[in-house]
Amino acid sequence: MGDNKSSNVVWQDVALTRQDRERKNGHRGLIIWFTGLSGSGKSTLAQAVEARLHREDFHTYTLDGDNMRHGLCADLGFSNEDRIENIRRIGEVARLFVDGGNIVLAAFISPFASDRQKVRNLVDPGSFFEVHCNCSLEICESRDIKGLYRKARAGQIRDFTGISSPYEVPRNPELILDTGASTVETCVEQVFEAVRERVRLGEAMALRDANR
Ligand code: ADP
Repeated sequence: MGDNKSSNVVWQDVALTRQDRERKNGHRGLIIWFTGLSGSGKSTLAQAVEARLHREDFHTYTLDGDNMRHGLCADLGFSNEDRIENIRRIGEVARLFVDGGNIVLAAFISPFASDRQKVRNLVDPGSFFEVHCNCSLEICESRDIKGLYRKARAGQIRDFTGISSPYEVPRNPELILDTGASTVETCVEQVFEAVRERVRLGEAMALRDANR
């Protein structure tokens, strides 16, 4: 189970599996990981896509960067080290939700490719759906929803992604959204259509069910 500081902790096997829960939910679990600059539309889209999925009876949960930093990650700042730990914790939480058979929507700047890759590696191939909210720094800065760019430019915020801290553009994401030019509605449909296929319960599982 990786590096573990408590050597006397034994993994407890559980009776119910992810497959049991997925079968009950009627769809597969999935992490939809929204990454992009601040103001690129991650939170807006995670919420809107979740609402869309919820309406169609999918089991969903949204993990939002700002909200997590009020609780689970309240002790972390924005140094490289803290950003890495932030994403590690979110990844572990997302994994639990997927194990519960849910579609988890995660909205995190997650600027480092290696951290996003680590989250991808936590789940089976096919259960991580990376969405790059592609929006230029200029547009994000002109939106400046939370007034953070202005503060960053004024030197009041250190380590601000895009200004004084790097953002590594995803090389091979499952989906790239043009959140600088497209409407929210268009982007929501793009994600919804792509995800609907991904979470469909496979033939093999349906067959196995029929033979039970
Ligand atoms: P982030 O979570 O990435 O920091 P937010 O979702 O808080 O970004 O803010 C994005 C802003 O951009 C919102 O005001 C939203 O209405 C606007 N916006 C315009 N077009 C889009 C789009 N296609 N997708 C997402 N947001 C968009």
